[in-house]
Amino acid sequence: MSERRARYAPSPTGPLHLGNLQTALASWLQARIAGASFYLRIEDLDRARCRDEYTARMVDDLQWLGLDWDVGPGRGAPRDYRQGARDALYHDALARLAARGDLFPCACSRRDLADLASAPHGPLGAVYPGTCRDRELPPLASFARSVDDAIRFRCGQSVRAFRDRIHGDVCCDMAREVGDFVVYRRDGVIAYHLAVVVDDIDMGITDVLRGEDLLWSVFPQIELYEAFDCPLPTYWHVPLKCDEFGERMSKRRGGTGLDRLRAIGRSRENVLGMLAFGLGLVDRDSPVSLDELLAELDEDVFVDRIRRRAARGRDGVLEAN
Ligand code: GLU
Repeated sequence: MSERRARYAPSPTGPLHLGNLQTALASWLQARIAGASFYLRIEDLDRARCRDEYTARMVDDLQWLGLDWDVGPGRGAPRDYRQGARDALYHDALARLAARGDLFPCACSRRDLADLASAPHGPLGAVYPGTCRDRELPPLASFARSVDDAIRFRCGQSVRAFRDRIHGDVCCDMAREVGDFVVYRRDGVIAYHLAVVVDDIDMGITDVLRGEDLLWSVFPQIELYEAFDCPLPTYWHVPLKCDEFGERMSKRRGGTGLDRLRAIGRSRENVLGMLAFGLGLVDRDSPVSLDELLAELDEDVFVDRIRRRAARGRDGVLEAN
């Protein structure tokens, strides 16, 4: 396997919509252009919201588009790619953070936090006001029995920055804009930031390409990389696809998926052309194959075209593509 490793990491909470598939295409192209191995990681930690049938549909959709993977369903043991099979790893990571004194139990409900009308909001939502910050963490085993407390990571107070391949330098005042974040939820589920960082480190992921709605999630994740003493991956946060009303697509609202396009007879090249156009990789929405895209793109061209697309999106010119 090559040194560079990239991944696409969908949550099977619904069928992939065209916005998800656009990001999947970007991730696959970035990996293949870089000669990286490509992981398809199934982020199914939240058993109440995830369904195996959605995973099966995702696999089918990605295969239909020709986006293949080196590790993922059908390639490797579930422990290699399914968060639901990797619990021991996350609990081991929690124990390491606890041993460093980074964690505290938190009894505040969402309602408690929402009721604090004065609580400042950052790009990730309400910033935790620190209510339980000085509480001491009981032994982790007690959390398996108690459903009352979440566990939070004590976030640093400094200003942090990182360089995104698409967005350039991004910086954040951690205390004011992020605050102490949850690593273990009150319902006993390992929280997103912790699972993603543990997985990316364990899988040796060097390139994280995902939708730009997750740009700010890098900041809590930086704290965890530092706590685990591991280097940050290279980040690529790409523009999202909007629906016909100019709204970001969401699985919850049931954005258009591949089944509808397949049902009306759209070809693979036709769909790839539309997704590549949405990313700004081609200048017309016309059929294209993966081989043609790979032949036309190197890393610099890939970055340059997506950057231009992201900049146009911010001006609102192309949001309704
Ligand atoms: N599982 C997340 C999602 O479906 C993506 C996580 C990531 O790429 O870091 O939105």
